[in-house]
Amino acid sequence: MANHEETPEEKPETATTEPREKATFGMPLIKGLANTLSHILRNEPNTIHYPAEKRTPFPGYRGEHRLKRDELGREKCVACFLCSTACPAHCIEIVAEEAPWGDREKRPRLFNIDMMRCIYCGMCEEACPCDAIELTPVYNIPSRSRGEKIYNKEKLLSL
Ligand code: SF4
Ligand code: SF4
Repeated sequence: MANHEETPEEKPETATTEPREKATFGMPLIKGLANTLSHILRNEPNTIHYPAEKRTPFPGYRGEHRLKRDELGREKCVACFLCSTACPAHCIEIVAEEAPWGDREKRPRLFNIDMMRCIYCGMCEEACPCDAIELTPVYNIPSRSRGEKIYNKEKLLSL
């Protein structure tokens, strides 16, 4: 059995770290109180009268999804299933049909996203080879039921 004995060098180390810990605890506390006090004295409200007022999301914010249209007004999606394959939440459902146009083979007959399951990771947008789907800065579409949170193709194209 190993017999560990404290060496003479270990004791002074414990004795010196204790005051240092107290010092590092004290400074953030003082800074935090000073920060709170400065906000109180400035008296600037941090709240807004939502929904009458809305905040502008930061650049790159990932909100509601949108299916894009091309210059002729057709959906850009060619029903390749790459977005639904990449989706880690398995919330994209696509049913393909033959496209009536000569420049592509397929288009989505059904394109649903279950927004109750979506984690807004942006993988669908990353995976799409046609730039047909994007996450917009829109974050406040209300709904009264779970069913309304399943966005179909028409809704996604209208956003
Ligand atoms: S944002 Fe992520 S979870 Fe939501 S539909 Fe796209 S890939 Fe799926
Ligand atoms: S949105 Fe893009 S990735 Fe998804 S099926 Fe359509 S073309 Fe493919």
